Parts: sequence; C-alpha cells; structure tokens
Amino acid sequence: MDDTNAAIRSVLIVGGGTAGWMTAAALSHALGERCQITLVESDEIGTVGVGEATIPPIRLFNDTLGIAEADFLRETKGSFKLGIEFVDWAKLGHRYFHPFGTFGKPFDLVAVHQHWLAARAAGSTIPLDDLSMAWAAASRGRFAAPMTDPRSVASTFDYAYHFDAGLYAAFLRRYAEARGVSRVEGRVGDVALHGETGHVAHVGLRDGRRIDADFFVDCSGFRGLLIEGALATGYEDWAHWLPCDRAVAVPCATGGDGMTPYTRSTARAAGWQWRIPLQHRTGNGYVYCSRHISDDEATATLMANLDGEALSEPRLLRFTTGRRRTFWNRNVIAIGLASGFMEPLESTSIHLIQTGIAKLLAYFPTRDFSPLLIDEYNRVAITEYERIRDFLILHYKLTSRDDAPLWRDCAAMTIPDTLALKIAHFRQGGRLIARDMDLFGPASWLAVHIGQLNHPLGSDPLLDSSKAAAASTTFIGRLSEAMATMARSMPTHESYLQRLTRSMA
Ligand code: FAD
Repeated sequence: MDDTNAAIRSVLIVGGGTAGWMTAAALSHALGERCQITLVESDEIGTVGVGEATIPPIRLFNDTLGIAEADFLRETKGSFKLGIEFVDWAKLGHRYFHPFGTFGKPFDLVAVHQHWLAARAAGSTIPLDDLSMAWAAASRGRFAAPMTDPRSVASTFDYAYHFDAGLYAAFLRRYAEARGVSRVEGRVGDVALHGETGHVAHVGLRDGRRIDADFFVDCSGFRGLLIEGALATGYEDWAHWLPCDRAVAVPCATGGDGMTPYTRSTARAAGWQWRIPLQHRTGNGYVYCSRHISDDEATATLMANLDGEALSEPRLLRFTTGRRRTFWNRNVIAIGLASGFMEPLESTSIHLIQTGIAKLLAYFPTRDFSPLLIDEYNRVAITEYERIRDFLILHYKLTSRDDAPLWRDCAAMTIPDTLALKIAHFRQGGRLIARDMDLFGPASWLAVHIGQLNHPLGSDPLLDSSKAAAASTTFIGRLSEAMATMARSMPTHESYLQRLTRSMA
C-alpha cells in the first residue's frame, strides 16, 4: 500500500484521565494538523486521578512538549521528588531510601558499594544512604537542580515531581485543545467492529452520537472499553506475586514533616501507606491486600495515620495487578490503566503511559496496520512491564517481617526466575546484574537489596584485601562528608520552589 494514501487520518482517544490527556498532548505536538485527533470522556464517570508521584523521565516528556518546569509546577501545585523513603519494609523500626541518581562517584575500578561493604565489614557505621546526594539533600529538606560538572558530587543525583494528577490532566487538556484536539463530552455505550477485519469501526455514545476513526487509543482506565470490552484481548494476572488489590486514598492538610522533597512509603500489616506532599495538601493512601484486611479496617488505619485534617471523604479503588496479553490489538492501542496496572510502589504508572506514547510515536502505523509494528510494540511493552514487575516484587520478597500473614506469605513466595537470578548474584558477591530494558538501574537495585537487608556474603575480588578496609573507609567517610556539606549549601525545598514558580509567574 502507498504510505501517503494509507496515512492515518483520524485518531480517537477514549478517556480523559492522565493517560488520555498525555496522549492527546503528545499526538497533537507530534502530528500537528496532519491528523484529526478527538478525545471522548465522561465527566459522569470521572478519573482515577490519584497518580501523584513520578520518576525522573517525566521531565523529558514535559521538555519534549515544550512545557517549562516553572509553569508545570505552578499549574499542578507540584513539588520536587528526590526518591522514596521506605519505612518498616525490611523489619519494624527500620528505614532506607531509594534515591534518584547514584551512590557517590567511583574513585577506582571497583564499584562504590563494594567499598562501602568493605568499610562496613571493618566496622564503619556509615549507612549506604549517606553516599547518596539525593538523600543528603532530601533528609535536610533541601533542593536545587543537579549540577552539570561531573567532578561535583552535586552531579550525582536526579529528580522527579509530585503533582496533582487532576490539575496535570487539565493543564494538558488546555495544551492539546490549543493544538487542535477536539474534546467530546459523552459516555461511550457500544463499540462497533468491522465484520471482515475485526477492527474497531466506531464508538457509539449513549446519546446516539457516533464517532468514527482510523485508529483508536484506549485510555478508558481499568474498564479497558475497547481493548477488553470490544476486543477481548485477555489479561495476565500477577496477583500471586503482587498481592495488593485495593487502595483507599485521601488528601489531608500539610503537617508532620511538611512538604518533604521525597515520597514516603510505610509498610503496614496488610500493605503499605504512601505520603506524597504537594504545595496545597498531602496525598495519602493505603494499598492493601483484601485477603488480609477489610475495607473498613484499612480505611481506619489510613485515617489514624494522617499528618493533618482529611480534606475529603476517603476513596476506595480496586484493581488486579497484571497486564493485557497484548497492548496493541488490531487498530486499538491501550495506554494507561487500560493496558494494565502494577501498584504504585515505585511510581511507575505514569511512566508507563509515557513509554507507551513514545513507542506509539516510534511505531506510528499507516492504515494497513503492519503486524511487524504491532508485534514489536507488544514485545517491548511486555518486557518493560516484566522488568518493573520484578523490581516491585523484590521489595516484598526480601522482607524480614514476620509479624503479619501478608509479609510471611511474601517472604515465602516463589518468584520469577529472572528475579531469583538477580537476588542470587547480589547475595553471593554484591553483583548487580543488568537486563535489557531494565527501567531501574543498578543504584536502584542496590538501594533495595541493602535496604531490605540482603547483605552479600562475599566481596568483589578486585578489592585488594590487604589495603581495602582502610582505603575504603577513608573514601566512604570523605564522600559522605562532601555530600553533607553540599546539601547544607542548598536552599530549602520550599524556598527553591517559591522562587522558581514566582519568578516565572
Ligand atoms: P482513568 O484516570 O481511570 O481515566 C479513564 C478515563 O476514561 C476517564 O476520563 C473516564 O471518564 C473515561 N471513561 C471510562 N469509561 C468511559 C465511558 N464509558 N465513556 C466515556 N469515557 C469513559 N501512577 C503514578 O505514576 N504514580 C502514582 O503515585 C500513582 N498512584 C496510584 C495510586 C493508586 C491507588 C492507583 C489506582 C493508581 C495510581 N497510579 C499512580 C496510576 C495512575 O493513577 C494512572 O496511571 C493514571 O491516573 C492514568 O489513569 P488513566 O488515565 O489510564 O485512567
């Protein structure tokens, strides 16, 4: 088929949550006038809207769209995020930090953490966290953008944002509408398929209107109206590895530690609680396993553990962890919750929306919908999902908690071979095995292995054992001191944010 004649002329995005409006904004930016983009959403149904914590690549998404950081943070009442503090995950009373960035800077061929292990074996009590510039700043409530000079310790960290997902969707809606996206308010009732190809032909709205398109993006949330409702694509259930299946969420007034530049995840008896500070409020939620706690008990636990007065009624959400068997089926691609869901432990859902959009643009089809493109999209998307899944399971599997059935079950569960191999390598010699398309790099894996008390039995043979302990101890001490000094010179998170958002207003 001639590519010019076969070009996609119209795209319909079904759903206007974070996924729908991120897709609409990116497609309008990339395709311009070449293609009619329509988004249908229903105010009556509403959105999930609790996705508030992100990881560093979100900055690339905003940058690509030409969105200035100051505008974005002002419009979404956002804050900076340097990583996640995990409390009570390894055992009660224990905490650690998963930082964005690396642990220090290498000073020889041996990985920094091997020096830390050698120093620790020789009696050093410096925690691994103290070798993270992100934690040095986060623990002091400080923030400044990383430096570009690779000689400075201030170049060794990275950052993301917390933001109000509803405000972000509204912001992107304005962006997309200004670039020609038409929004239709209405409730999708039925979906019609072409008899011959089984492709989606049009969606019908409950009020009788009908919307045709060449290509459909299913952003309808957990419902998966097109990918599942119309095409019955199938779902792979991962609840045996990631057992939490519900969440109760509520915002509260800012209190406690205030607007920390990091997310906190506190393990509870039947799951874990998030704390995400924004400019105007703090987001909270208890993600739990319904086999181990009732909705009422989970809600009571959440409400008893807020920093300040609740600002709305708690909201209950149900989900099944897993993914669609394929993400792109015929002329429908599922993005966002319609494609699957892994609990928000490492803030990966919005990132998966972003990578879905990036792949959609990389493999943008013509009307012949080449199976070559569809297969490649699915292969990459499935791998991305599985890599993240393994990283999330790591947090549960490595727990030493035995005070509640959920944690005992998790410690005893069988895990994917891909993950078992990584744990075995780290346990044996502190080796961080990388796999293609790992979203989380060695520093992230290191943080969770050590944080969850998976200490290696052996050390790197490249370390010269006769000199190792003393040299490593000196190196580690200097590094943590340099980071503490740098952090003390940074502005507070509040003052940096205020200066940034006001200067551009
Ligand atoms: P939704 O927000 O559900 O939007 C679906 C859209 O489809 C809505 O506009 C709705 O009106 C529309 N729709 C549905 N049916 C119809 C119909 N019949 N007719 C017309 N329109 C229809 N992600 C992160 O990255 N970080 C986090 O910290 C985070 N925390 C989370 C916590 C919880 C408890 C949950 C459940 C999710 C979390 N997520 C997080 C995920 C994040 O919320 C979602 O990835 C994100 O909001 C995208 O959702 P969505 O747009 O796919 O779906």
